[in-house]
Amino acid sequence: MKTKRPRQITVLFSSSIALLLATWVAVGQQTRRIDDAALKNTGKTGEEWLAYGLTPGETRYSPLKQIDRNNVSRLGLAWSYEVGPGGGPQEATPLVWNGTIYGITNWSVVFAVDARTGKERWRWDPEVNQSAVRSKICCGVVNRGLAIYQGKIIAPVIDGRLEALDVETGKVIWEARVAYHQDNYTITMAPRIAKGKVIIGVAGGEFPTRGYFAAYDANTGRFAWRFYAVPGDPSKPFENAAMKKAAATWDGDWWKFGGGGSIWDGMAYDPDADLIYVGTGNGGPWPEQLRKSKGKDNLYVCSILAVKPDTGELKWYYQNTPGDSWDYDSVQGFVLTDITINGRHRKVIMQANKNGFYYVLDRITGAFISAQPFAQVNWAKGIDPETGRPIVNPDAHYDHNNESVTIFPSNGGAHNWSPMSYNPVTGLVYIPTSPNSSRTFLVEPNFTFQEGRMNTGVPRGGRGASANPQVPPSIGPAAFEGQRGGMLVAWDPVTQKERWRTPGGAGAGGGTMSTAGNLVLQVINDGRLLAYTADKGEKLLEIQTGLRGGMGPPITYMLDGKQYIALMGGTGQAAGGRGGDSTPAVRPKLLAFVLDGRERLPQ
Ligand code: CA
Repeated sequence: MKTKRPRQITVLFSSSIALLLATWVAVGQQTRRIDDAALKNTGKTGEEWLAYGLTPGETRYSPLKQIDRNNVSRLGLAWSYEVGPGGGPQEATPLVWNGTIYGITNWSVVFAVDARTGKERWRWDPEVNQSAVRSKICCGVVNRGLAIYQGKIIAPVIDGRLEALDVETGKVIWEARVAYHQDNYTITMAPRIAKGKVIIGVAGGEFPTRGYFAAYDANTGRFAWRFYAVPGDPSKPFENAAMKKAAATWDGDWWKFGGGGSIWDGMAYDPDADLIYVGTGNGGPWPEQLRKSKGKDNLYVCSILAVKPDTGELKWYYQNTPGDSWDYDSVQGFVLTDITINGRHRKVIMQANKNGFYYVLDRITGAFISAQPFAQVNWAKGIDPETGRPIVNPDAHYDHNNESVTIFPSNGGAHNWSPMSYNPVTGLVYIPTSPNSSRTFLVEPNFTFQEGRMNTGVPRGGRGASANPQVPPSIGPAAFEGQRGGMLVAWDPVTQKERWRTPGGAGAGGGTMSTAGNLVLQVINDGRLLAYTADKGEKLLEIQTGLRGGMGPPITYMLDGKQYIALMGGTGQAAGGRGGDSTPAVRPKLLAFVLDGRERLPQ
């Protein structure tokens, strides 16, 4: 279009537009720029929640203190948002950026809502082929979280895709294929960002799978590298030296079963050490005997791995449960921090493992520092302080002698996916614990391997077990008298001793965070939000959210001078669920609480 405006005016007009545009772009870029530096500093002010575990060390410790021990009892609902129809528990940790909360719910539906009001900004449904994928999901139609980077929300899809969505609109920027559900893989964990790469692992350990995690360019979605947790067919070339080493710790024809070692939750990145830490799942099938690996370690199942983000090269590994036969995935969330132990400054990685031991390792070298039971344990008599290897109780190997043996903890674990948190002021970790869980194990009689199916090699619900199974003696803190349920355990990682404990919660469902207000906030799976003093465990708050199950962990953020606490929960299924129960379904929700909030909680 030709303009008839006087030239001078046109020039003035276009230059002011250009200036305006330049300003707008600069401001836009400034707020949009979640880069490596921003992620390295994430959690320092506590105003936003930019990464799965809040801080690079995944401590879930917020320096916010507007809500504190003196006023937390005034918490009330500010707003709620229905996240979807449900169909599984809510296990995700939402992210908060630029006044918006980003969340992921069942079937990997991603949403963005105004963090002040709960008003929806956008919603994106990956349209998973539910009937095809459902039979490949071992443990719930769940996703645990998202990542944010360079104007994108990075979202895992349970069917094996990885998506980058525009943070403002929810439109797809790129899509990558990490795995196929036809190969028995799913994705449930939250992706992590390391040096411009997205790192993601695949779930599916009870199915015939060969576990792995992989890296993709965060800006383009281009595949960078893959690291397998277990070796493949040894008649083919090994992918790397680590696989060659691992193959020597297996026997028989393990690769035909996949091997296991799925990666479905714990991961952390230390930008200073430039290492990604990854937890690996159990071997498949569960009994070592059925893997034809009696007395062999089966690297790298049930392990903590440290790899370089540029190449995926393995720097060190530590195997928590060599020759595992009890489904002790080592995938529980990590905390990275620096603490002084025996007068020595240590850069540590810590984990409250499914197997009941609390581990402290040197995160630079992988050297074992200490491990003690934080729950009842009888599969091992302790961890050798020199070698870091467990002293496995020979009676725990139900498969070697073909006996029924009751093992503590159960395959659900003393701690599972519920996030723990670490408060640097109290020096304590807050572990959602199942303190006295157990399961009676025996080898499935006449076990035959089935393609494409779950192959645990252990009968469901312990069917066929002896009426008087062996029960090897336990170590670890005893449960409260009469206590059957879960516990919140405050653990001192320096002394490896429990400081306080209180009933409620479990290794799976809900989770914890702590704040500079001397608070621990805990969500437990019966729908309650609770607050305790972080130093002593005095109970300060109890709110029944009305969601009654399928709960996710709490987060906090600050907007317009107001501190919020938010969480997701609900399964979307009728309470009770069976036997013609007519209770109406409570649809899953995202709830946000503030001091003196007055909205009504779900009924
Ligand atoms: Ca498992």
